[in-house]
Amino acid sequence: MSQKYILAPSILSADFTRLGEQIAECEAAGADWIHVDVMDGHFVPNLTMGPFIVEACRRVTKLPLDVHLMVESPERLLEAFAKAGASHLTVHVETCPNLDSTLQKIRALGCAAGVTLNPGTPVTAIEPVLPMIDLVLVMTVNPGYSKQTILPETISKVAALRRMLAAIGSSAWLEVDGGISAQTLPELRKAGANAFVAAHAVFDYPQGIAAGIRELRRVVPN
Ligand code: ZN
Repeated sequence: MSQKYILAPSILSADFTRLGEQIAECEAAGADWIHVDVMDGHFVPNLTMGPFIVEACRRVTKLPLDVHLMVESPERLLEAFAKAGASHLTVHVETCPNLDSTLQKIRALGCAAGVTLNPGTPVTAIEPVLPMIDLVLVMTVNPGYSKQTILPETISKVAALRRMLAAIGSSAWLEVDGGISAQTLPELRKAGANAFVAAHAVFDYPQGIAAGIRELRRVVPN
């Protein structure tokens, strides 16, 4: 695959007392997007951040803000996140009974429309809407927390989605989220992913954020 790939550090692992500085450090080190993991304490057990944090991120970076909504009934929050400066809004297929109308609403708000699926959800769940989406996000761990180990069966899921996107001529991003590190990135890239969310591997890298990003680019050069 010759197309360049995206690195999207997830601020889930950032030091929130220094969020602005850390995002600037990501940007200077060549991050492409900033990933924001929104969790509501219902769809997933953890509770994280809302539009207020997205708005704060928007003030400190020009990078696209890749907002991942791990929330029940995401439709009610789309406008608030779009207004706060989200560039991409990704919803879980498990939370959207009317997925096509949700995706239309996201696009009408001027954002790229993303869909994601949990490890237990089959790819067929999103097949009908593939032509309408700008980004498919494959959860490579069960969502909720940082520092998890990738579920190996999700690699074949990435490959299946790559084939499905190719079959319809879609140029949607194929993004992976959960357990991404210098060890797991090469195999997922080979399977066809072209956007990588990394939290722990960037923000908790022992030599710092820039070194963490360099290490990911070293194992798979862009
Ligand atoms: Zn995420």
